[in-house]
Amino acid sequence: MEWIDTHCHLDEDAFTQDCADVVQRAVDSGVVAMVAIGITLESCRRVIELTERFPQVYATVGLHPNYVSAAAPGDWEQIVELAKSPKVVGLGETGLDKYWDHSPLELQADYFDRHLALSRETGLPFVVHCRESETEVVAQLRRQPQDQPLNGVIHAFCGSADMATICLDLGLYLGFGGMVTFKKNEAQRQVAAGIPLDRVLIETDAPYLAPTPFRGKRNEPAHVRLTAACLAEIRQTSKEEIADATTANARRLFRLPG
Ligand SMILES: [Zn+2]
Repeated sequence: MEWIDTHCHLDEDAFTQDCADVVQRAVDSGVVAMVAIGITLESCRRVIELTERFPQVYATVGLHPNYVSAAAPGDWEQIVELAKSPKVVGLGETGLDKYWDHSPLELQADYFDRHLALSRETGLPFVVHCRESETEVVAQLRRQPQDQPLNGVIHAFCGSADMATICLDLGLYLGFGGMVTFKKNEAQRQVAAGIPLDRVLIETDAPYLAPTPFRGKRNEPAHVRLTAACLAEIRQTSKEEIADATTANARRLFRLPG
């Protein structure tokens, strides 16, 4: 079985000591590609370096909503340049976050719009972070020019079935990670069970949100198959079917080779 971890933060300090081991463990457990997500200009430079070190690692570049206040003038222009790097396969993470209060919402929305416009220009898909801001994210996505379909994923999807329908109607993929394996998240599992399989992506968000039974520990891309196993169980299907579908979906969205 081949897996793709569509969202991990391999450049974070948690992996500085043993990144090569982490990547190797992922490869040994069937992970054929990992998408390392940039969140600041510095982090985007680091994830691109990782793509040069490891054949299985691809990157996205962007400014995370929680960090847009800290962005310097000119950072965005450099992100636009970095987006041309050969193994950059997407933009973000971007989106809106009303849980933390690190950046004013208008500034987050301004940067979210920039990512969406750049996605239209470049054809690169966008990766959305949506925390306690579903209404605002949907409204902003709906305001985009309707000349072409939206090309992106809501990462760590934890919305209602109605929210899922809205996102699917907009043409988006939905990413599921360790949270669906947590015991208390039965409602999330119900929603995840009902998503058309050709729109489901799996992800770890490593080093965060490790799936059961590693909850609370450092997460890593090798654990993506535990989330996949959970999806297989709730959808009453095989892990093979989940692997085949989610890997094909990730390749389609991010235009990965394979
Ligand atoms: Zn993330």
